[in-house]
Amino acid sequence: MTTTAILSALAEEQQGLLDLLQQPHKTSHAGRDFWQGRLHGQPVVLALSRIGKVSATTTSVALIERFKVSRIVFTGVAGGLGDGVHVGDVVIADSFVQHDLDVSPLFPRYEVPLYGQARFICDKVLTAQLLRAARMGIDSLALPAKTLLHHGLIASGDRFVSGAAEARTLSSALRHGGHEALAVEMEGAAVAQVCFDYDIPFAAVRTISDRADDTAHVDFSVFVRDVASLYAQVIVRSLIKLL
Ligand code: SAH
Repeated sequence: MTTTAILSALAEEQQGLLDLLQQPHKTSHAGRDFWQGRLHGQPVVLALSRIGKVSATTTSVALIERFKVSRIVFTGVAGGLGDGVHVGDVVIADSFVQHDLDVSPLFPRYEVPLYGQARFICDKVLTAQLLRAARMGIDSLALPAKTLLHHGLIASGDRFVSGAAEARTLSSALRHGGHEALAVEMEGAAVAQVCFDYDIPFAAVRTISDRADDTAHVDFSVFVRDVASLYAQVIVRSLIKLL
């Protein structure tokens, strides 16, 4: 049976999923805890990516090599970059770019050397299922009608973006390179590249915790404490039923 990895960046985001895990079995490996078990009868491994691209890479490779997962789903929070992407909205990635990767002028800005591409595309089938699951999850929470579900590019980099000017600069530089990003976070592009290398499906959902602006650190902390775990729980629960 296909084993699905559910990867979260922060413990608060993972807690709601751990609460649902049946027959939990913990293994410590590479300084991380991996939780094997079942969600609605489906074999899963829950893990924390930890923060940043390198940390997320270590976790992803361990999931594939040691725990033999055959697909990875990321659930986490992100800063809203695009117009109309507000705190509480949900973004499902169609692709990822590293906003802090720049090997120009040797390669076009953002391009990953030797891959011939800047963007890593998420798996179409798994992403379509995640979109449906997010819709069902959001509806089940009976949130205010203004909660939007977005689908598009997410930018990752090793930086917590917490300034309106910085967010604008980052966003317009990406746009200049042909990359219109909806949100910014710190892990997704790394996981997407690992999944590309190993040729396994990857999909990602990020709930918007802040607007990557001057109050991002305050908004982020409140959101992660109060809401992130609930979102991850309802969306993943819906997804598992669709797989
Ligand atoms: N305070 C946290 C650190 C969080 S770093 C701690 O003590 O553990 C922010 C995390 O949320 C990262 O995993 C990143 O992917 C995501 N994120 C949310 N808002 C972000 C933003 N504005 N810029 C970059 N990453 C953001």
